[in-house]
Amino acid sequence: MRMGVAGIAGRMGRMVTAAILEAGHSLAGGLCLPGETPPDTPIFPDMAALSAACDAVIDFTHASTVLPHATLLAGTGCAWVLGTTGLTAADQAGVTAASSRIAVVQAANFAAGVNLVLALAQTLGAALPAAEYDAEIVEMHHRQKLDAPSGTALALGRAVAAGRGQDFDTVRTGARDGQCGARRPGEIGFAAMRGGQIVGEHTLIFTAADEQIALTHRAFDRASFARGAVRAAAWAVGRAPGLYDMKDVLGMKAAG
Ligand code: NAD
Repeated sequence: MRMGVAGIAGRMGRMVTAAILEAGHSLAGGLCLPGETPPDTPIFPDMAALSAACDAVIDFTHASTVLPHATLLAGTGCAWVLGTTGLTAADQAGVTAASSRIAVVQAANFAAGVNLVLALAQTLGAALPAAEYDAEIVEMHHRQKLDAPSGTALALGRAVAAGRGQDFDTVRTGARDGQCGARRPGEIGFAAMRGGQIVGEHTLIFTAADEQIALTHRAFDRASFARGAVRAAAWAVGRAPGLYDMKDVLGMKAAG
């Protein structure tokens, strides 16, 4: 299976490159920005050239690339594994449109354990009444991270909202600062911390008047994301067009 890497000189791109080789797949090469020093592998001039040499493209880049990548890849036979976060609603609409023509696996976090935590978040959201249990999500990442809250934090919030039958966009609340007023009943709050080289830490906290439940996931190594993305690429090649996630790849859909 031939795999290509968009963002091959980045933190994730390098790990994905190693994971492709570790899994015994063929590395076609990748895309990087001018001036970057990529791993020792073919570098293609653009996505059209890369996708022509691949069965699947694994993409960890920047949200500004998502719409052009979606448009281009939709016209190829190439599967698209998308790990980039910080997408706008218009970016996401482009991903969904592309998935009507090719297999797309999109995940805010490709680590197997996080996907179990997402399933637990939905179960806890369904079990703990929103009027009694205040849900808050705290995340911490390395100082270079560009978007906040992290894609994984937002996925946790969406899972809780889905469990509660809420519309996520109406209940989410960002950073509180100054005279921000009392907490709205049923809202899902986010706090983002940045520092050092932390790979990714997320805690989902449900606080009631008389008890608290906290669920924490800590990623120690980007290899867990990279191995998951390569597994997703191998799974996606030859699949019918559609928008898939890691629950599909891990066979967790039946368990919810
Ligand atoms: P990084 O900055 O180290 O690397 C990103 C790479 O993308 C750059 O090296 C560059 O080659 C490319 N790039 C950046 N801007 C570009 C542009 N405008 N046009 C074309 N190429 C561009 O970042 P990173 O830590 O590797 O993270 C990349 C993305 O993946 C981020 O959105 C991050 O949040 C996300 N991420 C997702 C997961 C997951 O499991 N889904 C895990 C970690 C990171």
